[in-house]
Amino acid sequence: MSDDITVLDSHEARVGSFTVRRALPRRQLRTVGAWCFADHMGPAEVTETAGLDVGPHPHTGLQTVTWLVEGAVLHRDSLGSEQLIRPGELNVMTAGHGVVHAEEAADTYRGTMQGVQLWIAQPEESRHGAAAFAHHADLPRATVDRTDLTVLAGEFAGERSAAQVDTPLVGADAVVRPGRSTWELRADFEYAVIALEGEVFVGGEVAKPGQIASLGRGRQEIDLEARETSRVLLLGGEPFDDPLVMWWNFVARDRSEISAAVAEWRDRGARFGGVDSRLARIPSPVPPWMSA
Ligand code: MN
Repeated sequence: MSDDITVLDSHEARVGSFTVRRALPRRQLRTVGAWCFADHMGPAEVTETAGLDVGPHPHTGLQTVTWLVEGAVLHRDSLGSEQLIRPGELNVMTAGHGVVHAEEAADTYRGTMQGVQLWIAQPEESRHGAAAFAHHADLPRATVDRTDLTVLAGEFAGERSAAQVDTPLVGADAVVRPGRSTWELRADFEYAVIALEGEVFVGGEVAKPGQIASLGRGRQEIDLEARETSRVLLLGGEPFDDPLVMWWNFVARDRSEISAAVAEWRDRGARFGGVDSRLARIPSPVPPWMSA
């Protein structure tokens, strides 16, 4: 028996001067495997005054995964990385105990920007460890029926991404041409499909941009059907059972860990390094349980 398919609406959030559609976390869907956060940015115009300009901010206990459909973003971090990312490429930053990064768009690119930013919760074994950054310019591709896939993380359709991940999971960009595609799935994984461009029927349920179709677990395969060429993002993984506490840009296991991270960022402690960015450092909002 497999779970039912549930289509959920994303909620709108602001990142830099962009409005994004946040597909994860939702109240009804906190995680898909270890994927714990998913923003669909754009398509939107990058201009003198509007862009994905996110100043230096910290992360803990997660990996950020950036994938662009259109546009360009300049990544800078406290490890000294400076990396322009373009469509077809992947940036993976591992926070571990702590890292700081900035994402700049307006100075380096004019035109349409569209992409996704995803977070992967790190397991106990790696979440206190060292930070890292990797850029993957060449990602494996596969075609399944009428779908052209790029494997961003993990393994799908017999292709494996070189991106380092700490738990069994998959992330894939999929361009679905008109007609039906049947994808083989793993019954021990849970999955979700985020619609990025066009309408796609996922196991018979329609999903359009701004929506995420949760497939649950227990499935051997899924049918996708598009009337016009469409694009979706497939996320999946082994259910991640650790109790996550997420506040702002921190992923932890309890409130005291969050409080410690908030205080160290506020106090400019050694845990979080600096980033060479023209953008202003972003202060952390104070959680309601921390006294002023
Ligand atoms: Mn970030």
